[in-house]
Amino acid sequence: MPTNESAFWMPFTNNRAFKADPRLFATAKGMYYYTPDGRAVLDATAGLWCVNAGHAQPRITEAIQKQAAILDYAPTFQLAHPYVFEFAQALSAIFPEGLDRIFFTNSGSEAVDTALKIALAYQRAVGQGTRTRFIGREKSYHGVGFGGLSVGGLANNRRSFLQLPGVDYLPHTLDLSKMAFSRGQPAWGAHLADDLERLIGLHGAETIAAVIIEPVVGSAGVIVPPKDYLENLRAISTRHGILLIFDEVITAFGRLGEATAAAYFSVMPDLVTCAKGITNGAVPMGAAVAARKIYDAIVESAAPGIEFFHGYTSSGHPLAAAAGLATLSTYREQNLFARARMLAPHFEKSAHALKDARHVIDVRNIGLMAAIELEPRADAPGTRAMSVFHRCFDEGVLIRVTADTIALSPPLIIEESQIDQIFAKIRDVLIRTD
Ligand code: PLP
Repeated sequence: MPTNESAFWMPFTNNRAFKADPRLFATAKGMYYYTPDGRAVLDATAGLWCVNAGHAQPRITEAIQKQAAILDYAPTFQLAHPYVFEFAQALSAIFPEGLDRIFFTNSGSEAVDTALKIALAYQRAVGQGTRTRFIGREKSYHGVGFGGLSVGGLANNRRSFLQLPGVDYLPHTLDLSKMAFSRGQPAWGAHLADDLERLIGLHGAETIAAVIIEPVVGSAGVIVPPKDYLENLRAISTRHGILLIFDEVITAFGRLGEATAAAYFSVMPDLVTCAKGITNGAVPMGAAVAARKIYDAIVESAAPGIEFFHGYTSSGHPLAAAAGLATLSTYREQNLFARARMLAPHFEKSAHALKDARHVIDVRNIGLMAAIELEPRADAPGTRAMSVFHRCFDEGVLIRVTADTIALSPPLIIEESQIDQIFAKIRDVLIRTD
């Protein structure tokens, strides 16, 4: 059991508090985690937005076991193996048409840094080498690489670290005075995309390579794009030769009831990043998915030899490729994206029923993701949601909190009765929380 002497330095964790009062999972199956003493905890977070098909899907487990015995590792630098080609082909088939060139990574952070490098390489390849600037957005999370944290908009992730030069930011789109308790996309806020025009006026379009956003913000607390916002951003970036990157590490693989948020919103970016649900969380993997024109420009215009000096030792690892193939089959065979679409209205109704619950100042939702924002304690912001998290965990429901916002993103296999159980538990715990 962990103690303060434990060797494991935990990521994004209050190590001292955790090691004094640890919460461990020993096994998982379907909708549940089980603690070492065998207590079931209903997973309302799909692990960390990963396990969209639920835990321990037999097909995925078997594929990983089998692959480990067939080919444990093979490089993909100047060599390869058939499984990575097969998986890239299968993956490209579920992405919007034209987004079909896939660069594999091991995480979402690496996918983001890869996409940023691809954007720079593309602009150089098409004779636009002055375009080296990126535009990110406040309240966005794009992982923890130096590229991702630089275009990200969360102060805690940025303040202690060096950042890329030449990055500017769109305003975030959350304004409770205009959109509290919106169901799905808020009606207010499309004009916030026009800020891209302001940044273009300030810096010059010829200096900007790409704009990167999460189509639905996840980590900062489920911020749903206002109606017409994404369309506006697409139109402005196209008009000025700026690439549009959707970071879909959370939204891809059925969270909104489609394979991608791009398909859900019918807005076509030039690059998509994904991870997590790509293998149902079972083997670490990420990907940067590029429009064909981007791949063609970079590869065709290169001098003979390696066209793009980038890659990871485990890009397209055989175990990840096998897990990914089995994951896509599972999503398809169990019709899970359609299931998320089918469950979304009940999920929305249940989430918004918390409008009159104690401490609640906003509920927002889309697909199978929702946020319940709580009034912070006057003297201790963040602690109220953390108390709710601890109580829910002790009483058998796993939720996720950031600051004073509860975020929910259950596996797509969830039953309606389990949705009811999650929201009933949250309501009940809020009554008992100061
Ligand atoms: N981008 C987004 C939108 C994310 O939500 C995350 C992780 O939650 C990442 C990037 C980073 O992914 P990873 O933790 O796999 O590096």
